Amino acid sequence: MALVVQKFGGTSVADAQKIVAAARKAVARHKAGDKVVVVVSAMGHQTDVLVDLAKQITERPSAREMDMLLSTGEQVSVALFAMAIQSLGEEAVSLTGAQIGIRTDSTHTKARIKSISTDHVMKLLDDGRIVIAAGFQGIDQHGNITTLGRGGSDTTAVALAAVLRADVCEIYTDVDGVYTTDPRILSTARRLPSISYDEMLELASLGAGVMHPRSIEFAKKFGVPVLVRSSFKDVPGTLIVAADRATARPVSGVALAKDEARITLEGVPDQPGSNHKLFSPLASSGIAVDMIVQNVAQHGLADISFTVPADDLAQALDVTRAVAKALGATGVSHDDSMAKVSVVGVGMAREEGVAGRMFLALSRERINVRMITTSEIKISVLIDRADAAKAVKAAHAAFGLEKPEVDTAESAGTAAPPTKSSPLDVVRRLEGMEDLAVEDCQLDSSQALVTFTDLPDTPGVAADVFEEIGRQKLFVDMIVQSHPRGGRAELSFTVPAVDRDRAIEVAGRIAKARGATVANVPHVAKLSITGVGIRSHAGIADRLFAPLGDAGVNVDLVSTSEVRLNVVVAAEQGKQSLEVLRKAFGL
Ligand code: ADP
Ligand code: ASP
Ligand code: MG
Repeated sequence: MALVVQKFGGTSVADAQKIVAAARKAVARHKAGDKVVVVVSAMGHQTDVLVDLAKQITERPSAREMDMLLSTGEQVSVALFAMAIQSLGEEAVSLTGAQIGIRTDSTHTKARIKSISTDHVMKLLDDGRIVIAAGFQGIDQHGNITTLGRGGSDTTAVALAAVLRADVCEIYTDVDGVYTTDPRILSTARRLPSISYDEMLELASLGAGVMHPRSIEFAKKFGVPVLVRSSFKDVPGTLIVAADRATARPVSGVALAKDEARITLEGVPDQPGSNHKLFSPLASSGIAVDMIVQNVAQHGLADISFTVPADDLAQALDVTRAVAKALGATGVSHDDSMAKVSVVGVGMAREEGVAGRMFLALSRERINVRMITTSEIKISVLIDRADAAKAVKAAHAAFGLEKPEVDTAESAGTAAPPTKSSPLDVVRRLEGMEDLAVEDCQLDSSQALVTFTDLPDTPGVAADVFEEIGRQKLFVDMIVQSHPRGGRAELSFTVPAVDRDRAIEVAGRIAKARGATVANVPHVAKLSITGVGIRSHAGIADRLFAPLGDAGVNVDLVSTSEVRLNVVVAAEQGKQSLEVLRKAFGL
């Protein structure tokens, strides 16, 4: 006898017939002898309707009342779902988040789960009932209703699966699995038979709306196998598991975040601590920043650029302008018509030239790349929103993602156990289920940092640079391109220290051909913090800038992913920085 959590999204319960059809799936499972917990979203677009209603009353509804309002959507659907099951002759009981005992913090509209009680649900299951749980909602310590953020029913489902030790969490939706990119954007997108937690986390957090990113954090932390499948078609779906079977692919998928904005704090005095002064107030305002890029300081002044979701722009600008004033920066610029396209794959770390392939594909489409950041498993570029669909198509084709894989993925079937790197033991130390889980901090002090200044800001420059570097078989690790100013961009990357001389020679040649300059190429150290929830917890970057700044360490480059945060500092400060960070994160 297995325990199964089945989650049905909005389109899967959009009307009475669909609710009955979904209920049949739960009943069939129950009749087969399994214990079944169903998690349901609000019907169709009901949550949007409620958001609209609130807007008709006020532009700035209070977050507490928003949660009170939005949670009603799921309360309707769980009751109807339970009735549907009862009409099919089985026993069912619907429960709100509060009735289950889903305790959250008090961050209304984006609350995080602290704990879930299992006694009540377990007893109902043992009594032979099917339990219908309202997705997306919880209750804080004062008894207020909270919600987990849009799309949060996925997180309810996986969190319940985790505490109930379910054998599988099935996510029923309007697509038949996770695709190489959003099938609504690109018709050649292909369904992936399986995908690793790390890749799915990264794709989801970079814009692939099929799963709520925080649900995958739970899945990874607690080793819950997740199966994404269609509500309407009986096809296999996509299994999200710890270690995907080894495939040859460097890239598994392309994600698009269409509504991004870029903010640049210009002319910041280059001292340790400026990053902290900027990112700390942004984090306290709950704004998640991405693509943080700092220019190499010229005449003692640096630029710091970062991206935020366009919805957060107004608030982020207020904060940044206040910081600019306090720091004596020369100005703040922004652009709200940006999009972020990312390619994601755990295999890219093994392969040379992946970034070059991506940039070349974009360059062939004459797409100008405004900013670049990379981590071990992803490359993100910031481009004009008007180029978004073209860029997704180009990146998708560049890695042959439309072609079926050669391996026998379809037969994988079963979930892999949590890998050695699973943070399960870290989880045990956490107070709340959704706390940030930092596993480790590592130091690699054998890298060199190459920086081009004054590169022309035209399509194809990054492609040319990395094509040449690829031809010279230089293995590039982190890549960062700053937001161009005055038509000139700055591009930095790290290489193994043993290749420093060769990199200087190649970079010098490239720079000469393009009228750019290569700054001195310092030996640097890369510090990597690994864990779960690194990007979704606003403020993790800041938690690292503050102690480093206090210790007088200047951060040259940063890159974030969902599972890792890298910072590059001067090589001679590597060891000291490692100690500072280990202490800051209690490692
Ligand atoms: P639900 O209401 O069931 O939670 P969502 O609308 O939240 O459904 O998620 C499903 C949608 O996610 C799909 O219709 C699809 O357009 C979109 N999507 C974005 N990226 C991907 C991807 N890589 N694979 C599959 N679907 C994706
Ligand atoms: N009903 C909520 C929303 O639309 C939660 C969800 O569907 O996952 O965002
Ligand atoms: Mg969803």
